[in-house]
Amino acid sequence: MSSHSDRSAGARDAQIRRDLEPDVGPLPDDEHDCEAGPCDESAVFAVPATEGGEARYCSFHLEWYRRENSETWERLEVAPDRVCSANPNDYAAAGNRFVSLADAPQHLADGDLVRVALLNDGRVLYESAEPEDGVVEYVAISASLDVDAATSVAVRKAGEWLRANFQKFRWLDVEDDVARALTPAYTEPSQGDSP
Ligand SMILES: [Zn+2]
Repeated sequence: MSSHSDRSAGARDAQIRRDLEPDVGPLPDDEHDCEAGPCDESAVFAVPATEGGEARYCSFHLEWYRRENSETWERLEVAPDRVCSANPNDYAAAGNRFVSLADAPQHLADGDLVRVALLNDGRVLYESAEPEDGVVEYVAISASLDVDAATSVAVRKAGEWLRANFQKFRWLDVEDDVARALTPAYTEPSQGDSP
């Protein structure tokens, strides 16, 4: 048996829940930028963000989100009419891009190149397995394994180059050993800020 005040408290809670509920679903063409780091594409769909509220993604970053957040995705998928107004699967597409690091070969060019990171634009970065003449080659590959970009960095500058690019371009994933080498770049600022 519920009293009047219980009912109004319930109504208020329901209203709060509705206000906090992220506004997910398809987005009008070219009205929002994709919010997944530096991305030039327009957002096509809004999904619940892990930190609360919603995040607007282009079709590629929506595909990446689908892989990373399978439980939330299932909720959007099984009840598209209730949770949002469309099926999110119709909006997600990888195109000529890698969605996970594991989808790319670990080695390329007869083992001369070793996998390093999944870049924010769906290319995978490789580096020389055995640097020659004090120089590391970095090569970015599309999902069709075409070389998209290549650069040479002095071995002694390679760590610095990786850290700078990792922070600037917010790579989606990195190999474990590379992640360990990059970690100091992230922990240092917060340690410096604490009293
Ligand atoms: Zn995007």
